[in-house]
Amino acid sequence: MKKIGVLTSGGDAPGMNAAIRAVVRNGVYRGCEIIGIKRGYEGLLNGQYTEMNLSSVADIIHRGGTILGTARSEEFKTNGGRNKALEFIKKVGLEGLIVIGGDGSFKGAQELCKLGVPTVGVPGTIDNDLNYTDYTIGFDTAMNTVLDAISKIRDTSTSHERTNIIEVMGRDCGDIALYSGLAGGAESIILPEISLDIEKICEKILNGIKRGKRHSIIMLAEGAGSAIDLAKSIQDITGIETRTTILGYIQRGGSPTAFDRILASKMGAKAVDILLDGEENKVVGVNGNDIIAKDIDMALKTEKRFDKSAYDLADILSR
Ligand code: ATP
Repeated sequence: MKKIGVLTSGGDAPGMNAAIRAVVRNGVYRGCEIIGIKRGYEGLLNGQYTEMNLSSVADIIHRGGTILGTARSEEFKTNGGRNKALEFIKKVGLEGLIVIGGDGSFKGAQELCKLGVPTVGVPGTIDNDLNYTDYTIGFDTAMNTVLDAISKIRDTSTSHERTNIIEVMGRDCGDIALYSGLAGGAESIILPEISLDIEKICEKILNGIKRGKRHSIIMLAEGAGSAIDLAKSIQDITGIETRTTILGYIQRGGSPTAFDRILASKMGAKAVDILLDGEENKVVGVNGNDIIAKDIDMALKTEKRFDKSAYDLADILSR
């Protein structure tokens, strides 16, 4: 294999650039030509690309976002769209493709595999919603961004003796809320994976006040409901002033943490090795300290496991 394409797709995540850099640098090291596809699958079907070399990925390892751009492409979900992409792949002579993105992007990669394009997925999403890998690229940075926000909101909540609900991203997966809540000492964590018990949350707030607590932080995963509605209910039940902070897109930006840069570097390089070893239709992941490769069909089939023990621990430690 001499010519490999790389694209980033879906929501951007800190560390995508470090992954692109690893693909390009390891690809060149192993004697390949690397083609960067712009704007994800949208660029693939519209023929938007750039030839990449060692210099094109200089000075990006520490930058958030993705130098290739990303998009959500409705056209690629159609047979017509995918055929346009296939025509482009043939025209440019791509022999393999590396897709950096989340589960939706992997479904797109799976479709390309069916069309005979050797494709390897690299998990780039802040959501950490893929079961086959311990971590996705961007999750650690997003979690640290949230943790910084929790500390700041805690200061003002204490001063005003308020309850504050912090809504974070993650789609249907509660990992950002769960682990930043555990790390930040949140009093309660509300997740899509666990049914909401508002009476228990309010009781915990009132018990905390009885023993001298001057604030309560409640983490809310976006897939578990509306922060504004929840604040109103909590304030009505407890009588404590309850404010909301919806963190939004700051969670997707910023310089990647060392953890995400290392993960992205290892995974991006591994994706190239997989293609050059003649394997295909795989996704790269991490299991403990090992970088692993799983069959893409199997990876997408398994439901994300919920870490109930972390949830229970956060509850015990915040009483
Ligand atoms: P994130 O987790 O950050 O949202 P993602 O990769 O899951 O990232 P999606 O918007 O779900 O983001 O998917 C990205 C793109 O992948 C879509 O815009 C579409 O082009 C392609 N895609 C998603 N699902 C499919 C599918 N079933 N078949 C073909 N292509 C798909």
